[in-house]
Amino acid sequence: MNASPLIDTLGRVHTSLRISVTDRCNIRCFYCMPDENIRFLPRQEILTFEEIERFVRVVAPLGIDKLRLTGGEPLVRHGLPQLVSRLAAIEGIEDIALTTNGILLAEQADALKAAGLQRLNISLDALTEATFRRIARRDGLDRVIAGIHAAQRAGFERIRLNAVAIKGITEPEIVPLARFARDNDLEMRFIEFMPLDAENNWQPDQVLSGEEIREQLEAAIGPLEPAERPDPSQPAMDYQFIDGGGSIGFINPVSQPFCGDCNRLRITAEGKIRNCLFSTVEWDARALLRAEASDAQIADLVRDCVLAKKPGHGIDSDQFLRPSRAMYQIGG
Ligand code: SAM
Repeated sequence: MNASPLIDTLGRVHTSLRISVTDRCNIRCFYCMPDENIRFLPRQEILTFEEIERFVRVVAPLGIDKLRLTGGEPLVRHGLPQLVSRLAAIEGIEDIALTTNGILLAEQADALKAAGLQRLNISLDALTEATFRRIARRDGLDRVIAGIHAAQRAGFERIRLNAVAIKGITEPEIVPLARFARDNDLEMRFIEFMPLDAENNWQPDQVLSGEEIREQLEAAIGPLEPAERPDPSQPAMDYQFIDGGGSIGFINPVSQPFCGDCNRLRITAEGKIRNCLFSTVEWDARALLRAEASDAQIADLVRDCVLAKKPGHGIDSDQFLRPSRAMYQIGG
């Protein structure tokens, strides 16, 4: 098998893979999922742990060394720690992270840590119950907070909190979230609202930019300075409070796209490879995995996907076309 790195036509070297393990979720955030009448993927369409492991065994020699498990909500997939330990055993995999809404984390944090999970991002958009419910259309704030503390007790360090920033909703939450992160030794990140909601309601004027949030934080808490940027492919621009009290990251895909440094590939729960969140084309790895294709054939498919990567997502272009999938069907 040709084991040269996964480099696209613009020279971007792909080392990071986001693996969606399910499209199901236990909440219904309006910026991601429909509230009702959802047709989730049938069980047999979702990649098995064996199939995910095989795929990672094929791409690791091509230079993929960083994995992130996501969904849907990854913790609703039964036995997730088993998958983590299988992936952690693959030669070349150096980092395994998980993005979760935290609702089931208190029950699973110890097992995930023991399985070899290294890093955790926990989504938390609001600290007030009413706003949490307005966004998630379900209850659960107390469970998320309990999940964060359980993860810290389990030994996870540098846990990140991710909040999607939506104009008209997020403004009163910004300072309390940043203070909560400062007080609890967590890193806070704000993500601009992207056009990936299932109900197709996204409008550009709902995007609360990272810049606006930074101004609000500096006015209320104190000056921020840019932090060192050891990994240029990381999506967040990180800042730290100059009094040393914590760090804040801004993921600004809409106001300041970072596609030029993108090193990420994605595989959906049913095994479609994607080279961008906003891609309208997919490469079917499951068909090969289930047809007993060789490692070389699977690797070639991944290379085709990488070579077709566009320079940018184009949200700001007149020709921008939303993907037909919403975020929960891709894996954020
Ligand atoms: N269920 C897990 C969670 O809540 O973290 C993992 C999947 S979720 C799709 C991954 C991340 O994508 C979350 O932080 C979520 O808030 C974010 N997200 C979902 N839809 C988004 C959108 N339209 N714009 C920006 N971020 C979004």
